[in-house]
Amino acid sequence: MSATVFVIGSSNTDMVIKAEKLPAPGETVIGGTFLMNPGGKGANQAVAAARLAMTSPHSGDQTTVTFVANLGNDVFGRQALQQFEREGIRSEFISTDADEPSGVALIGVDGRGENSIMVASGANARLNQEQVANALASISAPAYTVILLQLETPLPTVEYAIRRGHERGIRVVLNPAPAQSLDPAVLAFLFAITPNETEAELLTGIRVTDEATARQAAQHLHQLGVPNVVITLGARGAYVSSDGSNTAPAIIAAPPVTAVDTTAAGDCFNGALAVALAEGKNLTDAVAFACKAASISVTRLGAQASLPLRAEVDALPL
Ligand code: ATP
Repeated sequence: MSATVFVIGSSNTDMVIKAEKLPAPGETVIGGTFLMNPGGKGANQAVAAARLAMTSPHSGDQTTVTFVANLGNDVFGRQALQQFEREGIRSEFISTDADEPSGVALIGVDGRGENSIMVASGANARLNQEQVANALASISAPAYTVILLQLETPLPTVEYAIRRGHERGIRVVLNPAPAQSLDPAVLAFLFAITPNETEAELLTGIRVTDEATARQAAQHLHQLGVPNVVITLGARGAYVSSDGSNTAPAIIAAPPVTAVDTTAAGDCFNGALAVALAEGKNLTDAVAFACKAASISVTRLGAQASLPLRAEVDALPL
Protein backbone atom coordinates (compact mmCIF):
# COMPACT_ATOMS: atom_id res chain seq x y z
CA MET A 1 0.00 0.00 0.00
CA SER A 2 1.54 3.37 -0.93
CA ALA A 3 1.80 6.15 1.66
CA THR A 4 -0.06 9.36 0.97
CA VAL A 5 0.34 12.92 2.26
CA PHE A 6 -2.51 15.40 1.77
CA VAL A 7 -1.36 18.98 2.30
CA ILE A 8 -4.34 21.34 2.59
CA GLY A 9 -3.48 25.03 2.54
CA SER A 10 -2.37 28.25 0.90
CA SER A 11 -0.47 29.11 -2.24
CA ASN A 12 0.91 32.61 -2.76
CA THR A 13 3.20 34.40 -5.14
CA ASP A 14 5.76 36.38 -3.13
CA MET A 15 6.83 39.64 -4.81
CA VAL A 16 9.90 40.96 -3.09
CA ILE A 17 11.60 44.34 -3.52
CA LYS A 18 14.94 44.78 -1.79
CA ALA A 19 15.84 48.46 -1.36
CA GLU A 20 18.00 50.68 0.85
CA LYS A 21 14.99 51.60 2.99
CA LEU A 22 11.33 50.77 3.39
CA PRO A 23 8.93 53.54 2.32
CA ALA A 24 7.17 55.60 5.00
CA PRO A 25 3.40 56.14 4.41
CA GLY A 26 2.99 58.28 1.28
CA GLU A 27 6.66 57.88 0.27
CA THR A 28 8.02 56.26 -2.92
CA VAL A 29 11.43 54.60 -2.74
CA ILE A 30 13.20 54.17 -6.09
CA GLY A 31 16.20 51.96 -6.73
CA GLY A 32 15.40 48.45 -5.51
CA THR A 33 15.78 44.98 -7.01
CA PHE A 34 12.75 42.78 -7.69
CA LEU A 35 12.32 39.03 -7.17
CA MET A 36 9.24 36.88 -7.62
CA ASN A 37 9.04 33.55 -5.77
CA PRO A 38 6.40 30.88 -5.23
CA GLY A 39 5.31 30.76 -1.59
CA GLY A 40 2.46 30.25 0.87
CA LYS A 41 2.85 27.82 3.76
CA GLY A 42 0.67 25.16 2.16
CA ALA A 43 2.55 25.24 -1.15
CA ASN A 44 5.94 25.27 0.59
CA GLN A 45 4.99 22.26 2.71
CA ALA A 46 3.61 20.37 -0.31
CA VAL A 47 6.83 20.98 -2.26
CA ALA A 48 8.93 19.95 0.76
CA ALA A 49 6.94 16.72 1.06
CA ALA A 50 7.07 15.97 -2.68
CA ARG A 51 10.88 16.34 -2.79
CA LEU A 52 11.20 13.96 0.16
CA ALA A 53 8.64 11.37 -0.94
CA MET A 54 10.32 8.06 -1.64
CA THR A 55 9.66 4.90 -3.57
CA SER A 56 9.27 2.00 -1.12
CA PRO A 57 12.10 -0.54 -1.52
CA HIS A 58 9.60 -3.31 -0.59
CA SER A 59 6.59 -2.62 -2.78
CA GLY A 60 8.03 -0.19 -5.34
CA ASP A 61 5.11 2.11 -4.52
CA GLN A 62 5.78 5.84 -4.57
CA THR A 63 4.65 7.99 -1.63
CA THR A 64 2.18 10.41 -3.19
CA VAL A 65 1.74 14.03 -2.20
CA THR A 66 -1.59 15.70 -3.00
CA PHE A 67 -2.12 19.43 -2.54
CA VAL A 68 -5.61 20.77 -1.83
CA ALA A 69 -5.74 24.50 -2.54
CA ASN A 70 -7.63 27.28 -4.29
CA LEU A 71 -5.95 29.43 -6.95
CA GLY A 72 -7.15 32.39 -8.99
CA ASN A 73 -7.91 32.26 -12.72
CA ASP A 74 -4.79 34.30 -13.53
CA VAL A 75 -1.17 34.03 -14.57
CA PHE A 76 0.02 33.45 -10.98
CA GLY A 77 -2.40 30.58 -10.50
CA ARG A 78 -1.37 28.96 -13.79
CA GLN A 79 2.34 29.34 -12.96
CA ALA A 80 1.80 27.82 -9.51
CA LEU A 81 -0.09 24.86 -10.96
CA GLN A 82 2.72 24.19 -13.48
CA GLN A 83 5.25 24.36 -10.64
CA PHE A 84 3.29 21.84 -8.54
CA GLU A 85 3.09 19.46 -11.49
CA ARG A 86 6.85 19.81 -12.14
CA GLU A 87 7.43 18.84 -8.50
CA GLY A 88 5.33 15.69 -8.91
CA ILE A 89 2.53 16.96 -6.67
CA ARG A 90 -0.93 15.58 -7.42
CA SER A 91 -3.12 18.53 -8.34
CA GLU A 92 -6.58 17.10 -8.97
CA PHE A 93 -7.98 18.84 -5.87
CA ILE A 94 -6.52 22.25 -6.67
CA SER A 95 -9.42 24.41 -7.79
CA THR A 96 -9.53 27.62 -9.80
CA ASP A 97 -11.72 30.35 -8.34
CA ALA A 98 -13.78 32.26 -10.89
CA ASP A 99 -14.01 35.42 -8.79
CA GLU A 100 -10.92 35.86 -6.63
CA PRO A 101 -7.29 36.35 -7.75
CA SER A 102 -4.45 34.08 -6.62
CA GLY A 103 -2.90 34.90 -3.25
CA VAL A 104 -0.11 37.47 -3.38
CA ALA A 105 2.37 38.70 -0.77
CA LEU A 106 4.11 42.07 -1.32
CA ILE A 107 7.35 42.01 0.67
CA GLY A 108 9.68 44.96 1.14
CA VAL A 109 13.16 44.29 2.54
CA ASP A 110 15.56 47.08 3.54
CA GLY A 111 19.35 47.17 3.66
CA ARG A 112 19.37 45.81 7.23
CA GLY A 113 17.13 42.83 6.35
CA GLU A 114 14.10 44.38 8.08
CA ASN A 115 10.90 43.57 6.19
CA SER A 116 7.33 44.72 5.84
CA ILE A 117 4.77 42.36 4.31
CA MET A 118 1.26 42.79 2.95
CA VAL A 119 -0.72 39.68 1.99
CA ALA A 120 -3.81 39.62 -0.22
CA SER A 121 -5.12 36.11 0.46
CA GLY A 122 -7.46 36.16 -2.57
CA ALA A 123 -8.54 32.65 -3.53
CA ASN A 124 -6.87 31.14 -0.42
CA ALA A 125 -9.57 32.82 1.68
CA ARG A 126 -12.23 30.89 -0.25
CA LEU A 127 -10.92 27.34 0.22
CA ASN A 128 -14.09 25.71 1.51
CA GLN A 129 -15.34 22.59 3.25
CA GLU A 130 -16.78 21.07 0.08
CA GLN A 131 -13.36 21.17 -1.62
CA VAL A 132 -11.83 19.47 1.41
CA ALA A 133 -14.66 16.91 1.59
CA ASN A 134 -14.12 15.96 -2.07
CA ALA A 135 -10.40 15.50 -1.52
CA LEU A 136 -10.79 13.44 1.66
CA ALA A 137 -13.44 11.24 0.02
CA SER A 138 -10.75 10.07 -2.42
CA ILE A 139 -8.57 8.61 0.36
CA SER A 140 -8.69 4.84 0.19
CA ALA A 141 -6.04 3.89 2.77
CA PRO A 142 -6.54 6.05 5.89
CA ALA A 143 -3.91 4.16 7.91
CA TYR A 144 -1.19 5.08 5.40
CA THR A 145 -2.33 8.69 5.00
CA VAL A 146 -1.31 11.88 6.81
CA ILE A 147 -3.16 15.19 6.43
CA LEU A 148 -1.02 18.30 6.99
CA LEU A 149 -2.68 21.67 7.69
CA GLN A 150 -1.62 25.24 8.52
CA LEU A 151 -3.58 28.40 9.37
CA GLU A 152 -3.38 30.50 6.18
CA THR A 153 -6.78 29.30 4.89
CA PRO A 154 -10.18 29.90 6.58
CA LEU A 155 -10.33 28.47 10.10
CA PRO A 156 -13.76 26.81 9.55
CA THR A 157 -12.21 24.89 6.62
CA VAL A 158 -9.18 23.88 8.70
CA GLU A 159 -11.38 22.80 11.60
CA TYR A 160 -13.63 20.82 9.25
CA ALA A 161 -10.61 19.03 7.76
CA ILE A 162 -9.39 18.11 11.26
CA ARG A 163 -12.77 16.68 12.33
CA ARG A 164 -13.42 14.88 9.04
CA GLY A 165 -9.90 13.46 8.88
CA HIS A 166 -10.19 12.13 12.43
CA GLU A 167 -13.59 10.56 11.69
CA ARG A 168 -12.01 8.72 8.76
CA GLY A 169 -9.17 7.41 10.98
CA ILE A 170 -6.54 9.54 9.21
CA ARG A 171 -3.65 11.05 11.19
CA VAL A 172 -3.99 14.85 11.09
CA VAL A 173 -0.95 17.07 11.76
CA LEU A 174 -1.58 20.78 12.39
CA ASN A 175 1.19 23.32 11.99
CA PRO A 176 -0.57 26.20 13.81
CA ALA A 177 1.14 28.92 11.78
CA PRO A 178 0.85 31.85 11.42
CA ALA A 179 0.04 32.14 15.13
CA GLN A 180 -3.65 32.62 15.75
CA SER A 181 -6.28 31.27 18.11
CA LEU A 182 -8.42 28.34 17.04
CA ASP A 183 -11.34 26.43 18.55
CA PRO A 184 -9.71 24.36 21.35
CA ALA A 185 -12.40 21.70 20.84
CA VAL A 186 -10.73 20.53 17.61
CA LEU A 187 -7.35 19.90 19.26
CA ALA A 188 -8.55 16.52 20.56
CA PHE A 189 -9.01 15.31 16.96
CA LEU A 190 -5.39 15.91 16.00
CA PHE A 191 -2.68 13.27 15.79
CA ALA A 192 0.01 15.92 16.34
CA ILE A 193 0.52 19.68 16.61
CA THR A 194 3.77 21.38 15.58
CA PRO A 195 4.01 24.96 16.92
CA ASN A 196 7.22 26.98 17.02
CA GLU A 197 8.00 28.76 20.30
CA THR A 198 5.81 31.80 19.52
CA GLU A 199 2.85 29.68 18.44
CA ALA A 200 3.24 27.42 21.50
CA GLU A 201 3.01 30.52 23.72
CA LEU A 202 -0.13 31.75 21.96
CA LEU A 203 -1.80 28.34 22.33
CA THR A 204 -0.81 27.74 25.97
CA GLY A 205 0.11 31.08 27.55
CA ILE A 206 3.48 29.53 28.49
CA ARG A 207 6.60 31.29 27.22
CA VAL A 208 8.84 28.58 25.77
CA THR A 209 12.50 29.37 26.39
CA ASP A 210 14.07 26.03 27.37
CA GLU A 211 13.35 22.32 27.87
CA ALA A 212 11.42 22.87 31.13
CA THR A 213 9.04 25.44 29.62
CA ALA A 214 8.66 23.32 26.46
CA ARG A 215 7.59 20.44 28.74
CA GLN A 216 5.02 22.67 30.47
CA ALA A 217 3.61 23.86 27.13
CA ALA A 218 3.46 20.29 25.81
CA GLN A 219 1.66 19.12 28.98
CA HIS A 220 -0.87 21.92 28.54
CA LEU A 221 -1.54 20.80 24.94
CA HIS A 222 -1.83 17.17 26.08
CA GLN A 223 -4.44 18.31 28.62
CA LEU A 224 -6.36 19.94 25.75
CA GLY A 225 -6.41 16.54 24.07
CA VAL A 226 -3.48 16.56 21.61
CA PRO A 227 -1.72 13.18 21.90
CA ASN A 228 1.55 14.21 20.23
CA VAL A 229 3.24 17.59 20.60
CA VAL A 230 6.30 18.72 18.62
CA ILE A 231 7.59 22.22 19.48
CA THR A 232 10.20 23.45 17.00
CA LEU A 233 13.05 25.31 18.68
CA GLY A 234 15.00 26.82 15.76
CA ALA A 235 18.71 25.91 15.78
CA ARG A 236 18.19 23.76 18.91
CA GLY A 237 15.94 21.28 17.07
CA ALA A 238 12.52 20.18 18.32
CA TYR A 239 10.92 19.07 21.60
CA VAL A 240 8.83 15.89 21.23
CA SER A 241 6.26 14.67 23.74
CA SER A 242 3.72 11.84 23.38
CA ASP A 243 0.94 11.53 25.94
CA GLY A 244 0.73 8.13 27.58
CA SER A 245 3.64 6.68 25.60
CA ASN A 246 6.66 4.83 26.98
CA THR A 247 8.98 7.18 25.12
CA ALA A 248 10.18 9.96 27.44
CA PRO A 249 9.77 13.52 26.12
CA ALA A 250 13.05 14.85 24.71
CA ILE A 251 14.69 17.47 22.58
CA ILE A 252 15.82 16.04 19.25
CA ALA A 253 18.87 18.15 18.39
CA ALA A 254 19.11 19.85 15.01
CA PRO A 255 22.27 18.91 13.11
CA PRO A 256 24.75 21.80 13.55
CA VAL A 257 25.01 23.82 10.33
CA THR A 258 25.90 27.34 9.27
CA ALA A 259 22.52 28.92 8.62
CA VAL A 260 22.30 31.50 5.83
CA ASP A 261 18.50 31.86 5.49
CA THR A 262 15.88 30.24 7.72
CA THR A 263 12.94 31.16 5.44
CA ALA A 264 10.64 28.11 5.16
CA ALA A 265 12.62 26.07 7.72
CA GLY A 266 9.34 25.40 9.51
CA ASP A 267 7.61 24.46 6.25
CA CYS A 268 10.44 22.08 5.37
CA PHE A 269 10.22 20.54 8.85
CA ASN A 270 6.46 19.96 8.57
CA GLY A 271 6.54 18.54 5.03
CA ALA A 272 9.31 16.15 6.08
CA LEU A 273 7.50 15.13 9.27
CA ALA A 274 4.34 14.28 7.33
CA VAL A 275 6.22 12.15 4.78
CA ALA A 276 8.11 10.25 7.50
CA LEU A 277 4.90 9.55 9.46
CA ALA A 278 3.05 8.43 6.32
CA GLU A 279 5.92 6.06 5.53
CA GLY A 280 5.57 4.45 8.96
CA LYS A 281 8.37 6.02 11.02
CA ASN A 282 7.58 6.45 14.73
CA LEU A 283 7.22 10.03 15.99
CA THR A 284 10.78 10.37 17.35
CA ASP A 285 12.36 9.04 14.15
CA ALA A 286 10.04 11.20 12.05
CA VAL A 287 11.10 14.31 14.01
CA ALA A 288 14.78 13.39 13.61
CA PHE A 289 14.20 13.07 9.84
CA ALA A 290 12.42 16.46 9.81
CA CYS A 291 15.29 18.10 11.75
CA LYS A 292 17.77 16.76 9.19
CA ALA A 293 15.72 18.03 6.24
CA ALA A 294 15.19 21.48 7.82
CA SER A 295 18.88 21.79 8.70
CA ILE A 296 19.71 21.47 4.99
CA SER A 297 17.08 24.08 4.04
CA VAL A 298 18.61 26.74 6.31
CA THR A 299 22.00 26.44 4.57
CA ARG A 300 20.44 27.74 1.33
CA LEU A 301 18.76 30.96 0.25
CA GLY A 302 15.05 31.19 -0.50
CA ALA A 303 11.87 29.35 0.40
CA GLN A 304 10.99 26.55 -2.06
CA ALA A 305 14.45 26.93 -3.65
CA SER A 306 16.03 25.78 -0.37
CA LEU A 307 14.00 22.59 0.11
CA PRO A 308 16.12 19.42 -0.08
CA LEU A 309 15.68 16.18 -2.02
CA ARG A 310 15.29 12.81 -0.25
CA ALA A 311 18.75 11.60 -1.28
CA GLU A 312 20.34 14.64 0.39
CA VAL A 313 18.57 13.94 3.69
CA ASP A 314 19.32 10.21 3.59
CA ALA A 315 23.00 11.02 2.96
CA LEU A 316 23.29 12.78 6.36
CA PRO A 317 24.48 10.63 9.29
CA LEU A 318 21.75 9.29 11.61
P1 ATP B 1 10.55 29.76 9.92
O1 ATP B 1 9.48 30.75 10.32
O2 ATP B 1 11.95 30.37 9.83
O3 ATP B 1 10.21 28.96 8.72
P2 ATP B 1 9.72 28.42 12.32
O4 ATP B 1 9.77 29.59 13.29
O5 ATP B 1 8.41 27.92 11.87
O6 ATP B 1 10.69 28.70 11.10
P3 ATP B 1 11.87 27.06 13.70
O7 ATP B 1 11.62 26.45 15.03
O8 ATP B 1 12.67 28.34 13.67
O9 ATP B 1 10.46 27.17 12.98
O10 ATP B 1 12.63 26.03 12.75
C1 ATP B 1 12.03 24.82 12.33
C2 ATP B 1 13.07 23.72 12.33
O11 ATP B 1 14.11 24.08 11.40
C3 ATP B 1 13.78 23.52 13.66
O12 ATP B 1 13.04 22.62 14.47
C4 ATP B 1 15.09 22.93 13.20
O13 ATP B 1 14.96 21.55 12.97
C5 ATP B 1 15.36 23.63 11.86
N1 ATP B 1 16.24 24.79 12.03
C6 ATP B 1 15.87 26.09 12.16
N2 ATP B 1 16.94 26.89 12.31
C7 ATP B 1 18.03 26.07 12.28
C8 ATP B 1 19.44 26.27 12.37
N3 ATP B 1 19.96 27.49 12.54
N4 ATP B 1 20.24 25.19 12.30
C9 ATP B 1 19.74 23.94 12.11
N5 ATP B 1 18.41 23.69 12.01
C10 ATP B 1 17.57 24.74 12.10
